[in-house]
Amino acid sequence: MSAIIIDGKETAKKLRISIKKQVEELKAEGIVPALAVIIVGNNPASRVYVSNKEKDCKKCGIESLEFALPEETTTEELLALVGELNTRSDVDGILVQLPLPRGIDERRVIEAITPAKDVDAFHPENVGRIMIGTPSFLPCTPAGVMALLDEYKIPIEGKECVVIGRSNIVGKPMAMLLLHRSGTVTICHSRTRDLADITRRADILVSAVGREGMVTADMVKPGAVVIDVAINTAADGSLVGDCTPDVAEVAGYITPVPGGVGPMTRVMLLENTLTSARRRKNG
Ligand code: NDP
Repeated sequence: MSAIIIDGKETAKKLRISIKKQVEELKAEGIVPALAVIIVGNNPASRVYVSNKEKDCKKCGIESLEFALPEETTTEELLALVGELNTRSDVDGILVQLPLPRGIDERRVIEAITPAKDVDAFHPENVGRIMIGTPSFLPCTPAGVMALLDEYKIPIEGKECVVIGRSNIVGKPMAMLLLHRSGTVTICHSRTRDLADITRRADILVSAVGREGMVTADMVKPGAVVIDVAINTAADGSLVGDCTPDVAEVAGYITPVPGGVGPMTRVMLLENTLTSARRRKNG
């Protein structure tokens, strides 16, 4: 038996149509949702991510303002720009593309973004809100995963959920969102012993490691829902996730890479920008 493919591309498209409609309604009331994207230096991958974000905004009628700063930018200069954007009433979201060049204090920059415009939900205040279950903004990748589970009507309550990876942007917030929906959650990481014994228990397995071949068919319970968050470049240059192809023969559902979680992450950023713009309208 072969797993049902969870189509992130199609689900994201549907969500974008709904966002576009809501943006048009806001515009009719005089509010133009706007996202400020700051990119520092010449990292080619970052360049691609920023240009994708700008394209996504355009598709939905969200204004995107790009601030491209040179590699030599100092922490103080970046903080000054963030400070200015914090106060601009025509900017709803501020996103600083990571990683920043070495020498810039990433933590200070993230913490300088006002939580009200922190559409990536990286600010400690927003992270804390996610933890206590009163999120101001949803963490984009985990929220994208939850939207996929909901789209495919996959129940979470009472299910064994295993998340591989404990990063601040994926693993930890992913575990929190599953927990808030009453999943029984286990977080695994590089020091986890007997990983396969734990993953084989999972009804829902989320892998966010970033290593090709990390999850093999024998690590998956037959019929499990497998969410492959990772994006790895294979030897032939193609994009692959953490799962080996034969995982799809055991799983009940699986997200493809590309076309699974990636498009959902992108759409959740638009969703957060829209949320912020709506708050601007409501004062
Ligand atoms: P990090 O490198 O920050 O985290 C990777 C995690 O994997 C760490 O917690 C690490 O454990 C764990 N890990 C490493 N090796 C093992 C192992 N052998 N067994 C178990 N756990 C292990 O990555 P991110 O969380 O930022 O991203 C994860 C992946 O998701 C990447 O491929 C990234 O490209 C992708 N990604 C995809 C997105 C999308 O939209 N689809 C968005 C964001 C990320 P430890 O903490 O112990 O080191």
